[in-house]
Amino acid sequence: MHPNDPSLKSFIDSAQGSDFPIQNLPYGAFSTADDSRVRIGVAIGDNILDLCAVEAAGLLPKMASSSIFDHPVINEFMSLGPAAWSGIRQAISELLRHDNPKLRDDAALRERALVVRKDATLHLPVRVAGFSDFYSSREHATNAGIMIRGPENALGANWLHIPIGYNSRASTIVASGTPIHRPMGQIKPPDGPPIFGPCRRLDFELEMAAIVGAPTQMGHRISTAQAQEAIFGFALLNDWSARDIQAWEYVPLGPFLAKAFATTLGQWIVPAEALEPCRVEGPTQDPQPLPYLLQPPRMNYDVDLEVDLRPGGLNSTSTLTHTNFKYMYWSTAQQLAHHTSTGCAMSVGDVIGSGTISGPEKSMYGSMLELAWGGKEPITLEGGVKRAFLEDGDTLIMRGWAQANGYRIGFGECSGEVLPSNS
Ligand code: CA
Repeated sequence: MHPNDPSLKSFIDSAQGSDFPIQNLPYGAFSTADDSRVRIGVAIGDNILDLCAVEAAGLLPKMASSSIFDHPVINEFMSLGPAAWSGIRQAISELLRHDNPKLRDDAALRERALVVRKDATLHLPVRVAGFSDFYSSREHATNAGIMIRGPENALGANWLHIPIGYNSRASTIVASGTPIHRPMGQIKPPDGPPIFGPCRRLDFELEMAAIVGAPTQMGHRISTAQAQEAIFGFALLNDWSARDIQAWEYVPLGPFLAKAFATTLGQWIVPAEALEPCRVEGPTQDPQPLPYLLQPPRMNYDVDLEVDLRPGGLNSTSTLTHTNFKYMYWSTAQQLAHHTSTGCAMSVGDVIGSGTISGPEKSMYGSMLELAWGGKEPITLEGGVKRAFLEDGDTLIMRGWAQANGYRIGFGECSGEVLPSNS
């Protein structure tokens, strides 16, 4: 049976009805108190299946001459290509089925290979080769454009023709749970000369990351259909942003250091194959994109996204926004096809940021910039606390899940606490 079959059940009871049913099998990097090696596993219910352990036991098909999963990142696995991704996923699914005794009835192996998820430490699961970030939510681009240029010219002249993006920094992509220091930078106060100091308008950006698993050659352009096949999976992404640093530096070359100080990747990389049942049609594209950006049907994903904020020193958590990945105007496949259109080479482990995901309602905005409208309309949290931007001690938690036919595909968390600047 196909690993996405809704009738599949795992012998791990907690998998059924959880965010990590047998139909999900997202990849993560983890270590445990009694084994500090960082290794690769999949989330299944309340557990992690240690792929390094089941591979060593000879229970996975041999796809390479050396170990695929005895690594701290999934790059070696991804570099084997799409046929191996499907083959391994099929084998893991079979191993976890309720009617397969191989692992279920081997108490010693279960002891070695199943880890309690809440007792594990999660790490960055991918060696990030490059990081490109897009700007593909029409609602977000319109909101930001209104604040910068006014409602008449909210969308730039190119926006409906090109998936707008820029090359960001791979070096500062960090694992979920990593604290983020408020950046220092050059800021231009409204009245007076530029100063150097702590960012005063620190923001989050709710995004999805597509992880490129198949490389492209320099000088070689791929279609949207080929781009779709090159994507290994998706994770949550928080593209932390320093709005005041950004406002001063971005003319004329775009964002630079305002985005380069930290980006947080979510805990789990959900295989693109697991999200197949959640593909939906995106917004109508008018004008019709140029031929190289035309795409097959249903290239967006119906993934619910939520952002919570827990202020420092308080126990209360407030939900800031609830939106959906499906609202994106440009799909990931279009972004990746566009990325290669001049012959730019893509590498295994490249991260493609979707761009801030905002929806049509105010409750669906994907950044503080929009939620508090440039600081003009601070939002009120549980307990009466107000926020225009993020303050020191604030913890931001992103969550995501897709509802398939009878089960949920969860992405876990993408979280980080804001610490004071290193001044
Ligand atoms: Ca961004």
